[in-house]
Amino acid sequence: MSLPSPIAIDGPSASGKSTVARELARRFGYVVIDTGMTYRAFTAVALDRGVAAEDTAACASLAATIDLSLEDEQVFVDGVDLTERLREPAVEAAVSAYSAIPTVRDAMVRVQREAGDVPLCVAVGRDMGTEVFPDAPLKFFLNATQEARASRRSKQAGTWGQEQDATEAGRDIKRRDRIDTTRAASPLRPARDAIVIDTTDLTEQELLDQVIARVSAWVA
Ligand code: C5P
Repeated sequence: MSLPSPIAIDGPSASGKSTVARELARRFGYVVIDTGMTYRAFTAVALDRGVAAEDTAACASLAATIDLSLEDEQVFVDGVDLTERLREPAVEAAVSAYSAIPTVRDAMVRVQREAGDVPLCVAVGRDMGTEVFPDAPLKFFLNATQEARASRRSKQAGTWGQEQDATEAGRDIKRRDRIDTTRAASPLRPARDAIVIDTTDLTEQELLDQVIARVSAWVA
């Protein structure tokens, strides 16, 4: 049997999604679609143009006209590479508000499905298994306590050149979790057929072993 595709990986921030996706890419040749990048890029452009998240009509018209594309680990808007800006604190703080707007989601989902139209795709986000790729043959939902995720996120922030202590990271994660899980449009939740993994007490290797075992079982 051939490898499953797309593989959907959902979960809150710093739950281990990117680690898993990169390993699937390295080991089996999957193309990674990091869908958070589309919402982050939209947010960066909206902030630049002074379009507030409360102004849903202006957000809808920006969503209808924005020329956004995902290529590997880069995101382009009107041909300009915006990847470097996606972790800016202003983007981080605002992204959940923009991504709760249904018209913005509709436009981003179109970009995500187009990017995912490749033979081997692993799609990472919040609603891959529920909305964007509901027919994905293999779905994972990763989770971990807010404390564990805050500690991971503050370590990662250092590698992105942004200092953020665990308390600050915890506040940000809590706020984003609240918006992402309670919004009306595609809230963060596991698909009914997702394999749910709590990564709180797992080492990176233990998590990878569990996922690889599921992928290998599929192929066997
Ligand atoms: O995954 P990442 O942290 O880059 O996502 C940033 C934000 O984009 C999330 O907090 C969420 O608000 C939004 N997002 C989403 N749906 C996705 C991916 C990300 O709503 N599929």
